[in-house]
Amino acid sequence: MSSSNQHPAATGDSATINASIAELRGLLAAGRISPTELAGTFAARIEAVDPGLNSLISRVEAAAPASTDGPLAGIPYVHKDIFCAKGTRTTCGSRMLADWVAPYDSTVHERLTRSGAVLLGKANMDEFAMGSSNENSHFGAVANPWDAKAVPGGSSGGSAAAVAARLAPFATGTDTGGSIRQPAAYCGVTGIKPTYGRVSRYGMIAYASSFDQGGVIAKSAEDCAIVLGEMAGFDPRDSTSADREVPDYTATLGESIAGLRVGIPRQWFTDALEPAVGDAVTAAIDELRAAGAETVEIDLPDAEIALAAYYLLAPAEASSNLSRFDGVRFGYRCEEPKDLQDLYERTRSEGFGAEVKRRILVGTYALSAGYYDAFYRRAQKARRLVSGHFDRAFGQCDVIAGPVTPSAAFDRGAHSADPAKMYLEDIFTIPVNLAGLPGMSVPAGFVGGRPVGLQLIGRHFDEARLFNVAHQYQQRVDWHRRTPPVAADSSNH
Ligand code: GLN
Repeated sequence: MSSSNQHPAATGDSATINASIAELRGLLAAGRISPTELAGTFAARIEAVDPGLNSLISRVEAAAPASTDGPLAGIPYVHKDIFCAKGTRTTCGSRMLADWVAPYDSTVHERLTRSGAVLLGKANMDEFAMGSSNENSHFGAVANPWDAKAVPGGSSGGSAAAVAARLAPFATGTDTGGSIRQPAAYCGVTGIKPTYGRVSRYGMIAYASSFDQGGVIAKSAEDCAIVLGEMAGFDPRDSTSADREVPDYTATLGESIAGLRVGIPRQWFTDALEPAVGDAVTAAIDELRAAGAETVEIDLPDAEIALAAYYLLAPAEASSNLSRFDGVRFGYRCEEPKDLQDLYERTRSEGFGAEVKRRILVGTYALSAGYYDAFYRRAQKARRLVSGHFDRAFGQCDVIAGPVTPSAAFDRGAHSADPAKMYLEDIFTIPVNLAGLPGMSVPAGFVGGRPVGLQLIGRHFDEARLFNVAHQYQQRVDWHRRTPPVAADSSNH
């Protein structure tokens, strides 16, 4: 490999920018590169490449690693700009927090720092994590590195685009209804949303608290396994954090998947799915079979009901969570308010974008007296119904495999006028959040030159199995090694 290539914007030795975390650790341990040089390589790429992508909202001066022997010692990364890191601007993609500097660390940040990871920037995202295309950011849309006309997905679109463009070896993300898996799929990178409660939500700005879960986007299942092992774990500061030991996710990556029962939800391979995406996902499932797995058809009905329930429950929780942004305590404040009412009204109408306002209105309406039973309570029943379908399915299989999204990345602007169309992008990811299960997105090919993903869903706290299955798959295919033009590896051409 050599660093020469046809893309003048691409800087950084291609072997380094495409290296796995384990390989980077090897280079660092052997003294072939110093943490400062490694951070400098990626910082230079950010400088050269990101103006064309807009994947980052802020850049952060790389500090020396806080640990020299932690599993992530010297490994650079970017945070979705929803994670508080003391002293960094933390905007959540909103004008409301455009100038807000976090006064404390999120638990995720604290843990990654302790492990030696080096923060390089804060990634663009849909405002307050509401969106499926990253078009709702106050800081502008993000381009998909594979095709600048296409969206990168959302809401963790900046994180996925940054990893795909090799601006950092990994990025954090959050997934309330698909926001790690969907952008990972659209950008051809690997992402995991762990079991609800696995990663602390402390210091992660809340959207819909009973769904929100932090996770990781990286190039491979192995890299995700390393990073999640550092992020996850019990945190007394998050009341829904799970008090369970975190296994060494890398220890079981190499296990054979012979005899593993893979459930294929028959309702997910119907009209809603674009045929070419279905073909790619079917080919991926064939690889799992070739590796010894057995497939069984399972039933996961009611995805439409799940979608409807989510788009009621998530806004309901958001309407409550976002009430704290009132111009008094945090962030943006309108100019020269006449009185307190005027302060609230103008601060919120000027500080929030259109999609956030839509959600607050829907959520407030759904929770209002007289409508609570008709909407909120019914949606909660639907949530239990959908969880029950998964429980039954896991009686027949060990892991579920299917599509992440109905299609590959769509063009920017394609769904802007029709929120319901945009919400349909989440039809295969949202049921997983309703049930609090772990879900993963693994690159599985291309449709029209744009990446598509295979989704793997596990039982509660069975992340190790997802990593194992994804890793075995990635031993057999090279989709996750393909690089978009901005990260062109000369050995690929
Ligand atoms: N697209 C979904 C929404 O807009 C999911 C977002 C997310 O997972 N944060 O709510």
